[in-house]
Amino acid sequence: MYDEQKKYPNDQVLPLMMRAMVMDAPGQPLVLKELPLPKPSAKQVLVKIIACGVCRTDLQIMDSELVHPKMPLIPGHEIVGIVAALGSETSKMKKGDLVGIPWLGYTCGHCRYCLKDQENLCENALFTGYTIDGGYAEYTVAFEDYCFLLPIQYGNASGAPLMCAGLIGYRSYRMIAPDTQNLGIYGFGAAAHVLIQLALHQGKKVYAFTRDGDVAAQGFAKKLGAAWAGDSTATPPEPMDSSIIFAPVGSLIPKALKDVGKGGRVICGGIHMSDIPAFPYKLLWEERMVKSVANVTRKDGDEFIELAAQVPVRTAYRVFPLHEANEALAALRNGLIEGAAVLVM
Ligand SMILES: [Zn+2]
Ligand SMILES: [Zn+2]
Repeated sequence: MYDEQKKYPNDQVLPLMMRAMVMDAPGQPLVLKELPLPKPSAKQVLVKIIACGVCRTDLQIMDSELVHPKMPLIPGHEIVGIVAALGSETSKMKKGDLVGIPWLGYTCGHCRYCLKDQENLCENALFTGYTIDGGYAEYTVAFEDYCFLLPIQYGNASGAPLMCAGLIGYRSYRMIAPDTQNLGIYGFGAAAHVLIQLALHQGKKVYAFTRDGDVAAQGFAKKLGAAWAGDSTATPPEPMDSSIIFAPVGSLIPKALKDVGKGGRVICGGIHMSDIPAFPYKLLWEERMVKSVANVTRKDGDEFIELAAQVPVRTAYRVFPLHEANEALAALRNGLIEGAAVLVM
């Protein structure tokens, strides 16, 4: 638990070295290494990491479903930590601040998307734990402008899943049809278990679709308040107004379209999905819509963190020590995690 007493005193002596779990090549297990402490550049802060969530995207990077990662790479983009040192041109953060570091690590501010206020689509973006080093380590550096100040209750492992699962869930949720009452969620993992709390808080009915036969996930969804939980291939008792797909399974798109009413929306929250099978136009007809969600903006993040603290969102997670990152990834891959997997340092 984060507490005020542990704030970094200004005379804190930083270690010279840190432990990190490193990907040397795609397809290989991560390797525990001792590395020199990274130095923040002018606009970066050095963060002592408390916890870092393990995301399906980390698996997709290791499996080469996301290509051209920085190499070697320290994965991890759901970071909670304390600012331990400041770059020479930082101005917002101070030592001892509790911060979250998300996937979106940097945007250029001058490409056509940044100029249109769509920084989540920036042409020159850098991504934490993908094109820059992330949080499977005791320390990391991050651009100050892309860190979030976190409320104190999230200063521990419980805050980590908010930084990707929570954020991308929130942005996906913002894309659903206005006046959605019945909300379907496909894939009941880390993102879904945060999102259902927001949706219920706002009076919606949630229908949880899981891997076929995954009674554990269906039970988890019901425990969190889902009105219905069943197999992803099952027909829900009522039509959905909108559905969000977190499972990386392309065939769920026509399935979800079949179950939404007229004007319904199907929102895809993942970065990578298997191919979408051909489907008849009538599934899309009547103003149904399919939309993907890419990254999040800092504004999404600020809104989400404020809302999460208000609800308040409580995350379910299983902790693993840093050196067991491979075990955490395997558990996630095999569907053995209820909620989120989180590394603690
Ligand atoms: Zn993620
Ligand atoms: Zn840009």
